[in-house]
Amino acid sequence: MQTIFLLLSTYGLVFGSFFNVVGLRIPNNESIVHPGSRCTTCDRNLTWYELIPVFSWVFQKGKCRGCQTKISALYPVIEISTAILFTISPLLVGWSKELLVSWCLISLLVIITVSDIKYMTIPDKVLLFFTPVFIVLRVFIPLDPWWDPVAGFALGFGLLFLIAVVSKGGMGGGDIKLMGVVGIVLGWKATLLAFMLATLFGAVLGVAGLALKLVKRGQPIPFGPYIVLGTLVSYFFYHEIIKWYFQLMN
Ligand SMILES: [Zn+2]
Repeated sequence: MQTIFLLLSTYGLVFGSFFNVVGLRIPNNESIVHPGSRCTTCDRNLTWYELIPVFSWVFQKGKCRGCQTKISALYPVIEISTAILFTISPLLVGWSKELLVSWCLISLLVIITVSDIKYMTIPDKVLLFFTPVFIVLRVFIPLDPWWDPVAGFALGFGLLFLIAVVSKGGMGGGDIKLMGVVGIVLGWKATLLAFMLATLFGAVLGVAGLALKLVKRGQPIPFGPYIVLGTLVSYFFYHEIIKWYFQLMN
C-alpha cells in the first residue's frame, strides 16, 4: 500500500509540473508540448535536472541558473499541492470509479489556479477540454439522482451569471463558466456549498490580505482560486460539513 501512495505522489509531482506548463501556455495560445521548457527571462533551455519537480527549485534556491532571475514559488507550491491532492483522493473517495472523477477534477482546478493567478484569466480552451470529459464520466459514474449534473450546471452557471448581472461585472465570464463545469461534477447541492465556501474564503482571505497589507484596497483579486478551494472542500467533505452544520443547529 505504501508503494502505491509513493507512486501516486510521484505522479502528482509530475502532473503538477505539467499543469504549470498548461496553465502558463494555454492563455498565450502556445503549444503545451513544443518547445521544451525554458527560462522566460533568458530563454535558456532547461536541462533534465532543472525539470525535476520541486527539488530543482529548492536546489537552485528559486533562481534561474543562467540569469539568476527569481523563479516564482508558485511552481513548487502547485507541484506539491497536486501531489498531496492526488495522493489523498483514494483516502477520501475510496478505491472506486469515483477516483477517476476526483483526479480529473483536481487536474482542471490546478490548471485554472495557475492561469488565474498568473493572468487573471480562466481559459475557455481548458474548460472546453474538461466539459465533455466530465459529461462522459458522469454518464458512467452517475450522481444520485441521475439528472443532478444538469441541475448542478444550471445552478453553478445561473447563480454566478446572476451575480455578474447584479454586480455589473463584479464576476468574470470565466468564473461563471467554471462554476457551471464544477456543477456537472458536484451536483447542485454540493455546488451551492462550493459557492458559499468560495465566498467565505474570499471574504476571510480578502480581509486578512488587507489587514496584512498584502493587497491594496480596490486591487482586483482573481475569484477563480476561491472557487477552486470551495469546490475541493465541498467535493471531498460535503457530507461531513452538512452533518456538522445540522448538529450545530440542534
Ligand atoms: Zn534565465
